[in-house]
Amino acid sequence: MNKVVVTQKLPYPVVEKLSGYNIFYNDKDTQMDRNELLMQTTDADAIVSMLSDRIDKELIDNAKKLKIIVNYAVGFNNIDVVYAKEKGIVVCNTPHILTETTAELAFALMISVARRVVEADRFTRGGRFKGWTPNLFLGTDLYRKRVGIFGFGRIGQAFARCCRGFEMDIVYTGKSRKFDGELLTNAKYLPFEEFVSTSDFIVVTAPLNESTRYTFTIDTFKKMKRDAIFINVGRGPIVKESDLAFALKNHLIRGAGLDVYENEPEVHPELIDLENVVLLPHIGSATEDTRYNMADLCIRSIRNFLEKGERPWNEV
Ligand code: NAP
Repeated sequence: MNKVVVTQKLPYPVVEKLSGYNIFYNDKDTQMDRNELLMQTTDADAIVSMLSDRIDKELIDNAKKLKIIVNYAVGFNNIDVVYAKEKGIVVCNTPHILTETTAELAFALMISVARRVVEADRFTRGGRFKGWTPNLFLGTDLYRKRVGIFGFGRIGQAFARCCRGFEMDIVYTGKSRKFDGELLTNAKYLPFEEFVSTSDFIVVTAPLNESTRYTFTIDTFKKMKRDAIFINVGRGPIVKESDLAFALKNHLIRGAGLDVYENEPEVHPELIDLENVVLLPHIGSATEDTRYNMADLCIRSIRNFLEKGERPWNEV
């Protein structure tokens, strides 16, 4: 009987959908301890991993029967994909099904920072609202402003579609032009320097890889407009968090909205004290429908591969 390890509790009937398998299901909302993960995967044929699980050489070497790893995320920077493939292990993720959900969260962050929604909520709950005044919580408009998208792939382009409703001037940058995306969203390609210095909003929807790591440091923040708003729903280490905190504290930029962090789940302590940043706990794909569909894709990928030898369409 094939063994499947599911490393964390999913909003999905895992046991029922994996009937006929030997299942190790960590039916808890907490990450598996490293030793337990190594122990349980020793004789596993398949793993459903979370983005917080480190699937590295040690684990792969230890899991002698492992045939397929399915990451419950679209990002897969937690997995040594090159090594897994060398060992003949199939690695999958959950692309497409979380695209619109994550783009919507990026948009929610952008509008929250622009209109100071969270700060104003804290103010009202704190009993400080003493009546309407012309200067209370002045924000900035989205309408017809320039929005720069760093990572113009599935999520970046879905985000661009949201921005069209606000008649925003959409620009993007990157290693290559995305002609289809340009046609579908009316976005313009800009070289990085011009992208950084002319955007009113910069939104990161890129994966973490060696070309994106620490793209946004103090040098980049200094080149941005003083009124710029920075949003990150990609991955934390694309940004040097201490530099962002410095930029926000010293008003080099207007504000920021973050869903991801350099050393998750830690958040740079200086960010916690700042009013001009909205901080979310990595909930980009967190809707009931999407999280169910992600789990369903993971389980179907494993079953189809192990039972019918079907190569998953979502292999990375
Ligand atoms: P995707 O379709 O592969 O898009 C990624 C885009 O980033 C591609 O267009 C890629 O361009 C671009 N890119 C890569 N390196 C770049 C660089 N150095 N400079 C500029 N652009 C670069 O992936 P996706 O489905 O949109 O997901 C993107 C990322 O979002 C995931 O990898 C994950 O880290 C993150 N994410 C976060 C959450 C969350 O909960 N916050 C949820 C889902 C996803 P090329 O094609 O030219 O390489």
